[in-house]
Amino acid sequence: MPVQDIGRIDGLTYPTGVAYMAGKFMPISEARISVLDWGLLHSDVTYDTVHVWKGKFFRLDLHIARFRRSLAKLRLNVPFSDEALRDILVECVKRSGLRDAYVEMLCTRGISPTFSRDPREAINQFVAFAVPFGSVANARQLKEGLHLHLIDDVRRIPAESVDPQIKNYHWLDLVTALFKGYDAGAENVIIKCTDGSLAEGPGFNVFIVCDGALHTPDHGVLHGVTRQTVFDLADAAGLRAHSGTISESQLRNADEVFITSTAGGIMPVTRLNGTMIGDGAPGPVTRALFEAYWARHDDPAWSLTVDYGDQHA
Ligand code: PLP
Repeated sequence: MPVQDIGRIDGLTYPTGVAYMAGKFMPISEARISVLDWGLLHSDVTYDTVHVWKGKFFRLDLHIARFRRSLAKLRLNVPFSDEALRDILVECVKRSGLRDAYVEMLCTRGISPTFSRDPREAINQFVAFAVPFGSVANARQLKEGLHLHLIDDVRRIPAESVDPQIKNYHWLDLVTALFKGYDAGAENVIIKCTDGSLAEGPGFNVFIVCDGALHTPDHGVLHGVTRQTVFDLADAAGLRAHSGTISESQLRNADEVFITSTAGGIMPVTRLNGTMIGDGAPGPVTRALFEAYWARHDDPAWSLTVDYGDQHA
């Protein structure tokens, strides 16, 4: 049966998009991994996500470098140079025609031909895809700020168990917390580390602004590329920015709070567990960083323009 028929039989619909796997580009609806893949059965996979905004990749080199570090830590092998990897991602975007895209590269442990329990026998599988850009925050939330809940009774998987610098799909803590947050009326959630200090949320880092200085957790969180970008923008603007331990009371008493992700950029938070942060509107530091962040998408030092050719002009 042709692969595309399976989607029709299941009645599934897909976003527009293009994937690359096993040496071929294909519509996203045709990209499939086996149910025997260790990536599915054991979350034995790493990935990275970069966005394309108005036809330009943002900080692609940093995402590829982080992907390489994650692969090395997990002893996964992707048989492409950084340049070849970049070209595959660019080609996915080009073929999709998407001007604003969410672009993912991932590598699973793969399948072992004998269903062996030895990960060394699995054949690693690389997949890349481009789909329409998606954001953690919708248009209203970007303007007025997100309403988040700090969840106390689900804690982030400790860094000693799963290294958060390996970008991973171990999201059961985050998803469990998200459902608890929804039950309590939240739009999204932040969770804590096992020591009670602030960690991160489902797919984003957290910053607080106190007396004009920025603070973000250092331990037990992914060091996001957007988080790094905030440090770079703060440096350029002469703002103080620190990473370290942040307590619940520092979060609750912050002048401003914002979250950062490739899926949405810099996003203001204006309520925590139903209580207003500051005066309940996005603060001046958050707004200035938001403007600077999107302005830098035109900076050739931080962006890579996709040549779509005539096809999608
Ligand atoms: N923290 C987690 C757990 C994530 O999955 C992500 C991104 O998906 C982030 C933080 C933000 O990282 P970045 O800014 O690189 O998108």
